[in-house]
Amino acid sequence: MNTLTKNVIIIVIDALRPKNLSLFGYDKETDKNLIRISNNGILFRNHFSAANSTAPSVTSILTGKYPKNHGIIHQLPYTKEEEIQKFEKRKFWLPEFLKINGYTTIGIDWIGLWFKEGFDYYGEGEVSDETDAPFKSAENITSLALLKIRDTKKPFFLFLHYWDTHFPFPHVKYEEQGDEKDIQNTLNSITNESQREYLKKRIQGKSLYTIQGMKDKYDLSITDVDKQIGRIYNFLGEKDLLQDTIIFILGDHGVNLTEHGIYFSPSGLYDDSIHSPLIAHIPDFEKKEIDSFVQNIDIVPTILDYLNLKSDEKFDGKSLIPLIKNNLPLRDKIITFDGLCEDIKAVRTKNKKLIIAKNNFCNLCKSTHHKNIEEYDLEKDPGEINNIFSGKSELMKDLA
Ligand SMILES: [Zn+2]
Repeated sequence: MNTLTKNVIIIVIDALRPKNLSLFGYDKETDKNLIRISNNGILFRNHFSAANSTAPSVTSILTGKYPKNHGIIHQLPYTKEEEIQKFEKRKFWLPEFLKINGYTTIGIDWIGLWFKEGFDYYGEGEVSDETDAPFKSAENITSLALLKIRDTKKPFFLFLHYWDTHFPFPHVKYEEQGDEKDIQNTLNSITNESQREYLKKRIQGKSLYTIQGMKDKYDLSITDVDKQIGRIYNFLGEKDLLQDTIIFILGDHGVNLTEHGIYFSPSGLYDDSIHSPLIAHIPDFEKKEIDSFVQNIDIVPTILDYLNLKSDEKFDGKSLIPLIKNNLPLRDKIITFDGLCEDIKAVRTKNKKLIIAKNNFCNLCKSTHHKNIEEYDLEKDPGEINNIFSGKSELMKDLA
């Protein structure tokens, strides 16, 4: 195959944060297969999502643009009509583009709406799980993915979105033991009332009792998804397709487990919400670890660059190929948008972060995150605890 006919796979793991992967220093090995893939691929240590929530982030992944420019700023169901109208005027959408260029396009996800545009197949298949979760298990959708790519004659584009890692982790086969009293103790430990009410609503009837139990379930869900990604990688190896397939594996955003008083949600623009792993397998490129800043908007330009395909769209992202080949940094700062609050954005350099909240009402927990303006010294204060904003900041112009 020449590069024009390489297969393309994008695997999104919902709300995956680096902190819970041994690849990034976690003391549990939740990620055996991601380690294996990184050992033959490229691990990006500083990948930051363009948004802290699924709808704007996945739209960024598939358009190569920041939320402000593709239109979808807010997470579903808070996406505004005018945001969708702006998106509908798009010139570029990766599934449509690859389909026009001769690809069989397979989207495995349950969101639907605009996400299904351009896919020859879109959905999660007919096999049912024994849960009432809106999305199917990692095992189930992996089997579907393998079935779909097995029979394609043309090069394929597979977009696969794993949701097992999303709270309350409905497909994890582990039941925490506990009772009403444990739930009450857990809720009593949360000082912010709206956070407490929000968590209470979400753990009702879910066999979740303690914060530690919920954290354990998150880890187990990562291990489950990792195992399924291993199946895909093995399949490609057995069919001799690794040399003909470009793969991106990433989190669409991160998650706070309890950090910043935010419980199991990606609210706010702290690093826990926006830092996520990115691993790439690109034929002919050797194992490498990259520290400089990359964003999910870079995936589309990289695919087009590698496949030697042209679009007249003006992407916000940049091809990762020069960075991988010659260590040429793409940017010295990242920009990101809050899809859960009304109007919050942030710029982050290696050592500083500036967050501007014009309207900090959070649609999820009905409280607020971030003061009007916050600035953090990430070198001295990586946990983003002490707001050092003094009235002016050199980063102000980046968010103008
Ligand atoms: Zn998500």
